[in-house]
Amino acid sequence: MSLFSGFYKKTREERIAITAETRQLSKDSEDILLKDHNIPESIAGKMAENHLGTFALPFSLVPQLVVNGVEYSIPMVTEEPSVVAACSFGAKIIAKAGGFTSQISERLMIGQVALYDVPDMLVAQTAILAQQDDILAHANSAHPSIVKRGGGARQLTVEQKEDFLIVYLHVDVQEAMGANILNNMLEAIKDELAALTHGTALMAILSNYATESLVTASCRIPIQQLHVEPQVALKTAQNIAKASQLAQVDPYRAATHNKGIFNGIDAIVLATGNDWRAIEAGAHTYASKEGHYRGLSTWEIVGNDLVGQLTLPLPIATVGGSIGLNPKVQVAFDILGQPKARTLAGIIASVGLCQNFAALRALVTAGIQQGHMKLHAKSLAMLAGALEHEIDQVAFLLRQAPHTNLETAQSILEQIRKEAKHPQE
Ligand code: NDP
Repeated sequence: MSLFSGFYKKTREERIAITAETRQLSKDSEDILLKDHNIPESIAGKMAENHLGTFALPFSLVPQLVVNGVEYSIPMVTEEPSVVAACSFGAKIIAKAGGFTSQISERLMIGQVALYDVPDMLVAQTAILAQQDDILAHANSAHPSIVKRGGGARQLTVEQKEDFLIVYLHVDVQEAMGANILNNMLEAIKDELAALTHGTALMAILSNYATESLVTASCRIPIQQLHVEPQVALKTAQNIAKASQLAQVDPYRAATHNKGIFNGIDAIVLATGNDWRAIEAGAHTYASKEGHYRGLSTWEIVGNDLVGQLTLPLPIATVGGSIGLNPKVQVAFDILGQPKARTLAGIIASVGLCQNFAALRALVTAGIQQGHMKLHAKSLAMLAGALEHEIDQVAFLLRQAPHTNLETAQSILEQIRKEAKHPQE
């Protein structure tokens, strides 16, 4: 019988021992897992199955970012050097220009019941719409607590897409992201819809394409704030606008443009315990809504200003999922001043636009490597085994070297250690 049999029923220590034995873990690796207490075992075990320990990442802060006239500090969880520094830098410039403005017009989640083998699509569609009130009441009865909180199922829409008749349920989920709320409702109405349409239900599930939770962040930066020299400032603004145009027409650039936006968005989404896969999936679908993948943000020169805008679906939650469980998430919400979901979504969209501004500004001026390599050199120095007092010196010499890689970092470290032992040489 496999040692892994009944793995999920074992204690964490037993699971570590089985993994160590089966996968020949080193004693060091086993100890790292055993000594890990980032999140109490009782909590981590509720978040994910078969857990061996937790996985830590830096929890950082962008000190000041202004959204709708309010100054926030932004908690960020990311492993990538330069992201926090770039966002802090962009936030400072944009704060001087009045900060970001964010807007959100509605906050509904959409779920779908997909039906097939429907004998008459038109008749089925009419039958569903005629029963809309009853179906909505049935959906609400599957999750009455959200109705008590002021939310609930609001509307049904029906579309035929090739062989499928798809029923979309639009739900006000209040402060939650709503996956479980919607899935409960959709499963409750699935059989009724199949019976009404004389078809077969294939599945009933939330959609992450949250087109009714769109959030827009914008900012307006006087061009002269971009550089002390007016000509350089104008050229920078013109090139940021050109970079935005490039991301609209070239998917190779669009992917990287949007990755830069998500450097910021994912970091705060993760810090606030939200489901970053859901946010990414929805946003990338939105980026392709015109039939080809585009940059999510745009920058243009309007009068004497550089104007940036970012719109994307952000079904952000302040309750549910792991939000109430992870103690660090509670710290993040404290730092943010316990915002409501709409406010938090506006902050997150602003962080995305801020990160995008900082990246484009660097790209069209000195290039991003200058800032990036400083931190990368430090990471390489640490990887090479440099001790606390050696890191800065190794990183400094590494940045002067023709090849900034691990091998060079190791030979620099060897050299400075040799010199420290035999200073006369
Ligand atoms: P939960 O079911 O964890 O939490 C939502 C619940 O929080 C509500 O049902 C409500 O329960 C309670 N609640 C307390 N206060 C409020 C409030 N002010 N507004 C709204 N609800 C409140 O989460 P979700 O339904 O939001 O689902 C999110 C989870 O589902 C995430 O962990 C996500 O990763 C996961 N998921 C995602 C999928 C996807 O994206 N495709 C698919 C499946 C799961 P009550 O009223 O009873 O107290």
